[in-house]
This record gives sequence, structure tokens and C-alpha cells, in this order.
Amino acid sequence: MSERKPATIAVRTGIETDSQHNAVVPPIYLSTNYSFPEFGDVPKYDYARSGNPTRTQLETTLSDLEGGAGAVVTNCGTSALNLMVSALLGPDDLIVAPHDCYGGTYRLFNTRANKGDFQTLFVDQSNTEALDAAIAKKPKLILLETPSNPLVRVVDIAEICQKAAQVGALVAVDNTFLSPVLQQPLSLGADFVIHSTTKYINGHSDVVGGVLIAKTKAHADDLAWWGNCIGATGTAFDSYLTLRGIRTLGARMRVHEENAIEVLKCLQEQPLVGTIYHPSLPEHPGHEIAKRQQVGFGAMLSFELNGSLEQLKVFVKELKYFSLAESLGGVESLIAHPGTMTHRAMSDEAQEEAGLAPTLLRLSVGLEDSRDLIADLQQAFAIAAEVK
Ligand SMILES: *Cc1c(COP(=O)(O)O)cnc(C)c1O
Repeated sequence: MSERKPATIAVRTGIETDSQHNAVVPPIYLSTNYSFPEFGDVPKYDYARSGNPTRTQLETTLSDLEGGAGAVVTNCGTSALNLMVSALLGPDDLIVAPHDCYGGTYRLFNTRANKGDFQTLFVDQSNTEALDAAIAKKPKLILLETPSNPLVRVVDIAEICQKAAQVGALVAVDNTFLSPVLQQPLSLGADFVIHSTTKYINGHSDVVGGVLIAKTKAHADDLAWWGNCIGATGTAFDSYLTLRGIRTLGARMRVHEENAIEVLKCLQEQPLVGTIYHPSLPEHPGHEIAKRQQVGFGAMLSFELNGSLEQLKVFVKELKYFSLAESLGGVESLIAHPGTMTHRAMSDEAQEEAGLAPTLLRLSVGLEDSRDLIADLQQAFAIAAEVK
């Protein structure tokens, strides 16, 4: 049989594996402890921080989806990043991370570097000169986040992995914005993949979770040891809900993207819309790379409102099907104003330097009927246009 496609892996995980009652969908194991069959005979599972059958099921699924040798499911995405740096880096080791990485990632790396745990260098990874200079410092690890938040900048994973290999650096990719259905970094040369499973993988905005997937068995075993050591592992109940969510990942990503394309068409016709940021647009600087390395363009996009902050406030307030909220990747459509929400910890100057205009808005396009989403945007734009 040919290799299974991502949607099939996601739907079929654990189906018909219950040996006790032949349940089609696997049961959840909530027990924290497991009995030893004989004195001194250590079972596969003994204590749930170290291992739990429901979490193993999710780890296998995510590892299979990304083409890895193993995975550790963690209690959040941040915890997966923390597990990675705890396991891989010592005080003399350098990690190179994107200057526009997820805010929590920036805070984590910066704080731990200030404590002397390891060294961190933040660079604009779309600037080849700056990136080459950083790689010349022989980092132990390079973190990529592509597409990035909120301007969906794209970097060339395969090219950076080749440059990293020349200095013996490992490469990790935060693949949260696309999911393994739309991008598989290990196949492009990366050593690790990270997800905040809070986003598309669970997809229903009701679980906070994460995963760290390794390409080699040696790394996977090492990370499993560290996950238990520092207590980063996820709970059975969260794993169960995430498994429930992941079964529809293939279908969800397809509709997310279809809806995003319809929303883009609508935005392009609006006089109140300035620059639009989405890798599907030919004028987007990462368009060609995205076409090569991604299976689709994803459903995260941003745009600048061509108007006043007053108009922006009215526009956001009048929307009925785009909730004003942080996070992303759920079935429900969301709108965020990075300046006062996700990126509010950055100073005005830092925001300007990162290219975040004061009227930038970010959309996570959900799974509502796209006709309703478009009608909603149109009516809100019409009302905002009347504001002086
Ligand atoms: C949300 C997010 C994280 C952090 O994940 P949590 O589950 O909130 O800890 C990391 N990277 C990206 C790209 C994210 O969107």
C-alpha cells in the first residue's frame, strides 16, 4: 500500500485498537498509576507523568504526521520550546531565533539567556546577510517560525537547513501556523518540529497543549527522558480532547484555506483596506518559497486598515462573526489587533521596527460559511466608512 496521507493518519489513529471491548474509538486512560505484574517487573506504564497510553496515542499520531521518529506531548507549546532548550543547550551554547518570533518564545529565550542558561541571538531571518552572520557564530540550534506572526513572513527551510548543517547546527521549526497537513519541516531537512497544539491541531479552542517532534530516535529518546525529568508532559484528558480534534485536521485545513481565499478576495475590493499580508498573494515577498515548501498557504492573514484608529474600533465592534480575541486556529473566526493585544508588550518603536502598523489587524479565518463571513466584513466596512 502507498504511504498514508496526513488526513488518513489523523482520522485512523487508534481506531479499532481496543483489545478489551473492541471499541472502535480508543478509550481514555485517566489512571495516574499502573500495577507491576510481578515484584521487580517494571511495566511499560508505571506513572502517568512518565507515560500514559492516551498521551502515547497522540504522540504517535503527531510523530507520524510530521514524519518523525518520536514525539513528546507537553502541557503547552511554550513548554515544548522549554523542553527543547533544556535538553539541548548548556551555558556555552547559542540558539539563533527569529526577531519576530512568538512573544512567549521571545520572553522564554531572553529570560533564560539572561540567567546564563544558554545564549540567544535574535535575527531577522529573512535578511540573508544577518542570518549568515548569525550562522557563522556556530550556533548549536536554530529556531525557525514560518510563516511568522502576524505578518506571515516566510523563510526557506531547506536552504537554512543546508547552511546550518555546514556548521553542525540543529534546526527546529515552529510549525504552528500551518500544521503538518500544509507543511512538513522534517522532510525539508529540519531536526525538530514544534507545535502549539492549542491552535490548529486541537482546533476547537478548548485545550492548551504542545508537542516537540524529533527526526531521529536518539533525539526522541533523549527528549522523552527530559520531558519526564522536568515534568513537561501533557495530561491524559488534554491528549484525549486533542485526539478528538485532530481526526478532522485534514478536512478543517481545507475549509480554513478555502474560506481564507474568499476573505482575501473580499478584502482586496475594500477601499478601507491597505496592504494585505498573505503568502498566496504574488506580491508577498515569501510567495515563491511558500509555493515550494508549503502544501497550501494557510488561513492566517493580516491587513492594514486605511483609516483612523476610531474607524478601526468601529469596524472591529460591528463584526459579528469575527470574535475579538487572541490565539488562532480554532473553528471560529477571530480578529486581533496585534498592537494592543498579542504584541502589546513591545514598545511603539519596537512595533514599528518589526513592521507592525498601528492599524494592522490579524484574522484567523474559521469554518463558518464564507458567504456569512464576507457579508459580515462588508457591513462592518460600510459602517466604519461613515465614521469621520
Ligand atoms: C501560541 C503559540 C505558541 C505558544 O503556545 P502555547 O500553547 O500558548 O504555550 C508558540 N508558537 C506559536 C507560533 C504560537 O502561535
